Amino acid sequence: MMRVLIIEDDECDFELIRRTFEKAFHGQQLTFVWEPDPRLDHLLRIIDDFDICMVDNGLQNFSGTDLIDGLTSAGVQTPMILLTGDLRPDLDQEALQAGASDFLHKDKISATSVSRAARYCIARKEQERRLRDMAYTDALTGVANRAAFDERCDAAIAQVTKHGWFLNLLLLDLDDFKLINDTYGHPHGDEVLRQFAAELDRLFGQDHFVARLGGDEFGVLMVSHDDPGIQADVRRTARKRLATSFPILGKDMHVFASIGVTSVAPEQNDMSVTEVLHRADRSLYCDKRRRRFEDVHQDRALHLKEIDIEAVIQHLERASDLNELELYYQPKVSFKTGRITGLEALLRWNSPEFQVGPDVFIPIAEEYGLIRDIGHWVIERSCQQIREWSDQGMPVLPVAINVSPAQLEDLNFFKSVQDSLATYNIPPSLVEFELTEGAFSSGISNRIDQMQQVASLGCNWAIDDFGIGYSSLNRLHKLPISKIKIDRTFLEQLPKDNTARDISNAIISMARSLKMDVVAEGVEDPAQLDGLHLSDTDELQGFHCYRPMTVSALSGILAKQAAQAI
Ligand code: C2E
Ligand code: MG
Ligand code: MG
Repeated sequence: MMRVLIIEDDECDFELIRRTFEKAFHGQQLTFVWEPDPRLDHLLRIIDDFDICMVDNGLQNFSGTDLIDGLTSAGVQTPMILLTGDLRPDLDQEALQAGASDFLHKDKISATSVSRAARYCIARKEQERRLRDMAYTDALTGVANRAAFDERCDAAIAQVTKHGWFLNLLLLDLDDFKLINDTYGHPHGDEVLRQFAAELDRLFGQDHFVARLGGDEFGVLMVSHDDPGIQADVRRTARKRLATSFPILGKDMHVFASIGVTSVAPEQNDMSVTEVLHRADRSLYCDKRRRRFEDVHQDRALHLKEIDIEAVIQHLERASDLNELELYYQPKVSFKTGRITGLEALLRWNSPEFQVGPDVFIPIAEEYGLIRDIGHWVIERSCQQIREWSDQGMPVLPVAINVSPAQLEDLNFFKSVQDSLATYNIPPSLVEFELTEGAFSSGISNRIDQMQQVASLGCNWAIDDFGIGYSSLNRLHKLPISKIKIDRTFLEQLPKDNTARDISNAIISMARSLKMDVVAEGVEDPAQLDGLHLSDTDELQGFHCYRPMTVSALSGILAKQAAQAI
């Protein structure tokens, strides 16, 4: 059975071709479809169903060579033969260049010439197809390979921009695949890849293009005619539908795939395959990290699942440029006098999109490499604020700035502190840095170095949230630390819990022997302080004294305190 598509605007010519075909393939079953007025998008939908396509060069609205050119660039594999009455000598070259498989003169058409041309074209295309399949198929899994993906992705980008369509790329990567290989051996690793590829093909292969890009990485190209929607939704749907448990060695082996998603919209016509892949890769990386992050921060996971971390990252990256960051200040007061002795700068993100506090966005910024820039902004802004207060004749108090461990890994940290102090002409003793206890549990040699340098300028260091991490006591006295902030969770349990009081007092007495001052954090009720061995130089911080507040709210309070002192 041979299916012949004839694109020809003259009915007599169509009949002539049909009859010649019938003669040439006498006894064989033939079907003909006549298309007198072809449209490219219509042809693209049907042409794959034909074994051969005859195209008239002298169509009413456009030339046959242009049509063949359009079909070929859209990836059409059906052999096409150009028919012409034109005797121009270079037309055959033109036809072949456009992608025609052969070229026939209408007035020389005969059963012999049609039979030869058609048979030859079909056989050659079939051979090409087999070679192509071999070159474009991944031998292990049977899905398309990287070369095929690159070509298809390139064509898809061209298509979406030309027709105003959209492209989504899913990038999938199996987690801990190396572990599977190492534990169960390569043949079983291969089996996991085969089954995973089959699963992808089953889910997406019908409508989309599935490829193995290498190793344990797969890509799915999805061209859609309307906006493909929110990337997180695409990922969520894919994740929901994707089976990740495969029978291997008689057991159900569970593999988890991280999924990156990126889209190309019609106006992004200058995107290259590399760029699209790069963006998908970044999204994949975020997905992988996010899940690790959720594992580590179990307590926050519930909350984080509801927000789109990728969107948070994208907005957070631009938050300081968009003036969305603001510092609140929470006063610390003297245990002895109740007067404000210092301030802690606490970051707020006034995002129109997200309502998240620093306990959520700071860990995200730390995890995704944004904390250095944000931390730098906090230091600059704090110094600038001290300068403003000082210029306004306000009482100037030391400001404590929270620092994330990652900031200390940046060898420029010291320099940026030094520069900020110099720019705003601030005495270093007015700036204090807080580092959580967790920062001292591992890999701290770089950090100690930076801490020492900053301390040598004259800035103080405090350990934040002390008592819940596992800092080595042996290390503490070697560090340039002048203050310990007892973690809020101990105070929370006071005054009722005797153990919490004992621990707090143990921390206080340790601080004494190390010649460090103490800050009791999270004081909400004065009764919490009963039985604590605080001394005159210690400080209190908490809602009972003051909440974190804006600069303007604080100014009033400081002015009042100054007036009382007179
Ligand atoms: P932190 O440094 O321990 O800051 C104290 C936190 O406890 C603040 O939360 C403050 O609002 C809250 N707090 C103070 N007194 C009380 C109280 O009496 N009761 C209760 N329940 N809470 C109280 P906030 O502002 O949400 O900050 C959370 C954490 O985010 C901070 O904990 C700090 O680790 C981090 N953070 C805030 N700003 C920055 C920053 O600029 N850089 C870095 N790296 N981390 C920051
Ligand atoms: Mg703090
Ligand atoms: Mg704290």
